[in-house]
Amino acid sequence: MAAPILGTFSSCASEAKPFQGHKFPELGYGYDALEPYIDAETMELHYSKHHKGYFTKFMAEAEGTDLLNMPMEKIFGQISKYSDGIRNNGGGYYNHTLFWENMTPSKTDLTSELKSAIEKDLGSVDSFKEEFAKAAKTHFGSGWAWLARDNDGKLFVSSTPNQDNPLMDIAEKKGTPLLGIDVWEHAYYLKYQNKRADYVDNFWNIVNWDVVDQRLRSAIS
Ligand code: MN
Repeated sequence: MAAPILGTFSSCASEAKPFQGHKFPELGYGYDALEPYIDAETMELHYSKHHKGYFTKFMAEAEGTDLLNMPMEKIFGQISKYSDGIRNNGGGYYNHTLFWENMTPSKTDLTSELKSAIEKDLGSVDSFKEEFAKAAKTHFGSGWAWLARDNDGKLFVSSTPNQDNPLMDIAEKKGTPLLGIDVWEHAYYLKYQNKRADYVDNFWNIVNWDVVDQRLRSAIS
């Protein structure tokens, strides 16, 4: 299993790896790899235009400031101090990196550790999936739905507007994101048009549970 590229963002005190600077990530699979659930045209536009755009604008905003040497987790922890440009583009840069990582063309299964954590905090795997899908389907307008772990170690499901995420100090429910789904129309409209619910239901076919499990482990350590 490949280590998540998210390691480039690492600011976890227990990890020895120093921050290497902001970097536009590799996608890790082809544009058509997630077909039929996510079509190649959507993937190409989403990665090479939308995600790249957030990264480029974030870097332009960060130019000449100490943000260039600050891990995203740290920036998000005090995001209320920064401009909307940093919040929106930094969020877009980070959230999409998580999103590409937490999907895979190879089928993976929920690990036993993750399953136990979900059952303990969210009732059952089915009720978690239902809660997550509901958050994704009913979030009004553009945004994201999340499975995250709060600072007391409890898993929760939430949604955030625009490019916000649970790491941000302005988030209603704060924690470490483990799994995210992009519910902006640009994430699904070419294939699914107005049927966001179908896109959300199909998402389960391509979730990379190994990466979600790794994120849980590094959040715990
Ligand atoms: Mn997007």
